[in-house]
Amino acid sequence: MSTFFNERYAGIVPYVPGEQPHDRPYVKLNANETSVPAAPGVRSALDDDLFADLGRYADPAALPFRRAVAARFGVDASWVFAGNGSDEVLAFFFLACFGPRDPVCFPDITYGFYRTYCDAFGVPCREIPLKCDFSLDVDAFCAASEHVVIANPNAPTGLAVSPADIERICRANPRRLVIVDEAYVDFGNPTCVPLVETLDNLVVVQTFSKSRNLAGAHIGFAIARPDLVDDVRKVKMCFNPFNMSAPTMALGVAALADKDYYDACIERTVAERERTAEELAHRGFTVLPSHANFLFASRAGTDASAWNASLRSQGVLCRHYSEPRIEDWLRITVGTREEMDAFLAATDAFLGGR
Ligand SMILES: *Cc1c(COP(=O)(O)O)cnc(C)c1O
Repeated sequence: MSTFFNERYAGIVPYVPGEQPHDRPYVKLNANETSVPAAPGVRSALDDDLFADLGRYADPAALPFRRAVAARFGVDASWVFAGNGSDEVLAFFFLACFGPRDPVCFPDITYGFYRTYCDAFGVPCREIPLKCDFSLDVDAFCAASEHVVIANPNAPTGLAVSPADIERICRANPRRLVIVDEAYVDFGNPTCVPLVETLDNLVVVQTFSKSRNLAGAHIGFAIARPDLVDDVRKVKMCFNPFNMSAPTMALGVAALADKDYYDACIERTVAERERTAEELAHRGFTVLPSHANFLFASRAGTDASAWNASLRSQGVLCRHYSEPRIEDWLRITVGTREEMDAFLAATDAFLGGR
C-alpha cells in the first residue's frame, strides 16, 4: 500500500471478476459472457457520422439511448437511468440512496458486488440466508427493516422468484427501496419493470452484458420513478457527467433494434442449458433448475475445487467460490454447443482420471 492511500479504504476487499487469462486459448465459461457476436446492426452503428462527431462530448443525459430503452419498455425516458454497465448503475443508486443510517440487506449467497459497494461506500449491510435449497426467503425480506437488493434470477444459483414475490417485498414496507437486479431476466423470466409504475419503492436494473452479447461495451440501465432517477442523476453529475461514450450509446441503440436476433440467441442458450444440465445429471451431478445463462452444479464425493482445477488445466474456465455453503459447487456459463461439448469432455476426463 502506498503512503497516499486513504485510510478509510485500508480494509477494502476489491471485487474479483472471473479471470481473463491470455496465456493460451480457453473455452471461457467463467464470467457469464458469450463468444456469440452482437446483432449485425451493432457493427454498422459505428459509422462515419459517429466518427465525425467524436471531437464533441456525448450527451450527458444519454437521451438517445434512454429513449430507445424507454420505447422498449413502454415508459417515458424520464424513467430510465443509464450507465457503463449495471455495476456502475448499481453503484450510483447505492451512493445516492444508501449510507450509514440507511443500511441494506441482501441474500448471503448472491452477486458479490453488493457487499463490495457496502464496504467501499460505508453502508452497513445484513446478509439474509437463502433457505437450505438456495431459494430466497421471501418472508424474511418482507420482515426486514433495511433497504433491499435482490438479484432475480439470483447468481450464482440461477434460481428465480416471481414478480408477485417481489411485489410482496415492496408492499411489506414502502419506506424501503427495493432494487431488483435483472441481469439474467431475459433467459426466460418475467421482468418486474411493469411493477415500477405502481410501486414507488421499486428499481429494476438490467444489463447488455449477458443477453445482448455486449459485455465489452459495458452498458446498463435502471428503470425507476422519475424523481428517483433525477436524484441519482445529481450524484452522477458530481462524479462523471459524460459517463457513457457516444460509441457505447450507439451500440446500445442498435442492439435494441434487433429483437429477433437476440430472441434466437437466447433460445439457443436455453436449449444448450437444458441439454448440459441433463448431461450433468446423467453423470451424477445435482444441478439447480437454472433461469439464467449458467448452471450451478455439485456432486457428492467430488471436490468442486479439484474439478475446476482439472477443467482449467484442460483449457476450460468455470467459476468456483471458496465460500461457506457453496464451496462444493461450480458455476458454469452456458456457451455454444461446441463449448459445452468441450466442457463435458473435460469433465469426463476428470471423472475418469480420478
Ligand atoms: C454480470 C452481472 C452484473 C454486471 O453487469 P455489467 O452490466 O456488466 O456491469 C450485475 N449483476 C449481476 C447479478 C450480474 O451477474
